[in-house]
Amino acid sequence: MKTLQELTRPNIWNLKPYSSARDEYKGAVASVFLDANENPFNTPINRYPDPLQNELKLALSRLKGVKPEQIFLGNGSDEAIDLLFRAFCEPAIDNVVAIDPTYGMYQVCADINNVAYRKVLLNEEFQFSADDLLAAVDEHTKLIFLCSPNNPTGNNLLHKEIDRVLHEFDGIVVIDEAYIDFSNLASYLTKLHKHPNLVVLQTFSKAWGSAAIRLGMAYASADIIDIFSKIKYPYNVNLLTQKQGLDMLLKYHDIEKWVKTLLDTRAELMKEFAKLPCVEKVFHSDANFFLARVTDATAIYNYLVGLGIIVRNRTNVVLCDNCLRITVGSRVENHQLLDALKAYQAS
Ligand SMILES: *Cc1c(COP(=O)(O)O)cnc(C)c1O
Repeated sequence: MKTLQELTRPNIWNLKPYSSARDEYKGAVASVFLDANENPFNTPINRYPDPLQNELKLALSRLKGVKPEQIFLGNGSDEAIDLLFRAFCEPAIDNVVAIDPTYGMYQVCADINNVAYRKVLLNEEFQFSADDLLAAVDEHTKLIFLCSPNNPTGNNLLHKEIDRVLHEFDGIVVIDEAYIDFSNLASYLTKLHKHPNLVVLQTFSKAWGSAAIRLGMAYASADIIDIFSKIKYPYNVNLLTQKQGLDMLLKYHDIEKWVKTLLDTRAELMKEFAKLPCVEKVFHSDANFFLARVTDATAIYNYLVGLGIIVRNRTNVVLCDNCLRITVGSRVENHQLLDALKAYQAS
């Protein structure tokens, strides 16, 4: 790996961060806060939240088995994705490499930050080879994006290939594990200590059932996390979200039950899907959604919209022609979808 200083944009490496009132006060227990121009009325939301979310990080660190210094919390994982570009990629000079198809936000953030985005096509099994991926790398490649289980394809990427990328790439490898709770493979968090160039993204939006609160995590070396903390908005995770995040961590056993239910339901739904006349292929899934190739994705998508049932039409995505991406819902919702598709007549 290159040194972190070599990988980081010079303006970021040399940045003196904004120091908020709550950053500067660290010390004895205090009860009179006249430092931040807050309003003394309307507790508890009158006060600025903890800029570094220490309580939430401590609780997460216990659950995930990583140190609190190795955790960044953001306004969804989308914030972490954007910070990766802003920290490491010099606009118009540096580039990033990603598998294709994958989660659309990597390219959007690359485009916003004016960073070249190099796509390496997956094979027909939706897998990649480390050789192909590394062949797209040059001296200006700062980040590689791998999403496992991948969106929109739904499958785990091969760990053998991911491991090779981790060993052979001299920049930062981002593994997006938004759907890891639904996978039977272990999280790369267990390998964080072995790879100073690894950033693992997770989120409260999927298995944790909390998309509305906008809470995402990046796990990495303490040095990388320090860079994120330096450039993020000072109070990037609001008080209500920090509180709700803590509440969710206490409900850990509910989450395990939801995941188990969703996996059972996914199996039922995929089995019924495979029997439908309008379905040509149901792809393997390690996530809470699956991809299905149908006779005419756009016609079926529009037919479902007419019935108030919304799925994701992925037909314009490479390797996904005539594919719909189906999120596993409640059993009632899934049956509404199945009944609608049973009644579908191609016109
Ligand atoms: C849904 C999803 C996320 C979650 O993003 P948030 O900003 O945390 O809601 C991240 N990565 C992938 C691949 C996703 O599909």
